[in-house]
Amino acid sequence: MAYRVTLIPGDGTGPELITATRKVLEATGVAFDWDIREAGADVMDKYGTPLPEDVLESIRTNKVALKGPITTPLGTGFRSVNVAIRKALDLYANIRPALYMPGIPVCHEGVDIVVIRENTEGLYAGIEHDVIPGEAAESIRIITRKGTERIVRFAFDYARANGRRLVTAVHKSNILKATGGLYLKVAREVAEEYPDIEFNDRIVDNMCMQLVQRPKEYDVLVCPNMWGDILSDLASGLVGGLGVAPGANIGESLAVFEPVHGSAPKYTGMNKVNPTANILSGMLMLRHLGEIEAAERIQAAVASVIEEGKNVTYDLKPTRDDPTAVGTQEMAEAIVEAMG
Ligand code: NAD
Repeated sequence: MAYRVTLIPGDGTGPELITATRKVLEATGVAFDWDIREAGADVMDKYGTPLPEDVLESIRTNKVALKGPITTPLGTGFRSVNVAIRKALDLYANIRPALYMPGIPVCHEGVDIVVIRENTEGLYAGIEHDVIPGEAAESIRIITRKGTERIVRFAFDYARANGRRLVTAVHKSNILKATGGLYLKVAREVAEEYPDIEFNDRIVDNMCMQLVQRPKEYDVLVCPNMWGDILSDLASGLVGGLGVAPGANIGESLAVFEPVHGSAPKYTGMNKVNPTANILSGMLMLRHLGEIEAAERIQAAVASVIEEGKNVTYDLKPTRDDPTAVGTQEMAEAIVEAMG
């Protein structure tokens, strides 16, 4: 039986990353029936929207999607398609693992952190408006008991299911007393339901410093939307950068897998960027589908190509202009070869 999966190539470097990811996923022998759907800046002219309704309908039907990154205009223009998909489908939990792989030059070897980001509330609810155009603008930060309970429970359930020892709630309750205060209060209440997992909390600014200095003291971080967005990029920087950071957006019955990084538009069509983050997002999708052996083969092959250090993209070489760096497709082909 083939898995029917919605495939959204996205824009910018997205389509070439999805080509590379397909090569690796299909080489596992698991059969896929890709339901390819267009979204992003490139389809605005054709459909009058960057997120045509058929994309959401396809995900609702297939229950699982793999996605390349999608560009969002800065300051003006359409709202983020990525945020809109998560919100429209209530994909409330964003899992972003940052795992050290030998061969990548880093400050701290052995980092293994999972950022669990709330995906539907906070400032990213997008409730904002001009108060006085050009002079003053206002954004509203939504934190609810229901939204906080479910993301913190998700983090503890994830910790239990994956043999993790500690959940840290990240907040700013010293300053944002209403929203941050509610988040921390609810997180503490939920933590009491999980006596087998350690719990602590950190104010977000301190958390940034702790992650840079002592990242190995941390395990699972559960964060409101914006702190999770920022800390997951920080965590990716601890293990080699955005090129190696995968992600999964999970709801009650639907799931969309995509890298942490964006569309890296300056490299569009250059066969240059690292496919690892997108390939490992596909690996997380295989785990979600219960294809554990195929997922482990991909993870091991990615690790061995990176450890060998020969067939890797520019970002994993000692210097950015290393002439021995290979392209996106060549790195994916090396991963396929390493799968044997
Ligand atoms: P970005 O993640 O595209 O790039 C940030 C930096 O990381 C750049 O230097 C880029 O070259 C590098 N980088 C990114 N992916 C890489 C890869 N696979 N290999 C090697 N290097 C890589 O972030 P940005 O420049 O802030 O945003 C570009 C666009 O992407 C924006 O429109 C933004 O809104 C969008 N974005 C989309 C998503 C998504 O699709 N989920 C996520 C974040 C940003």
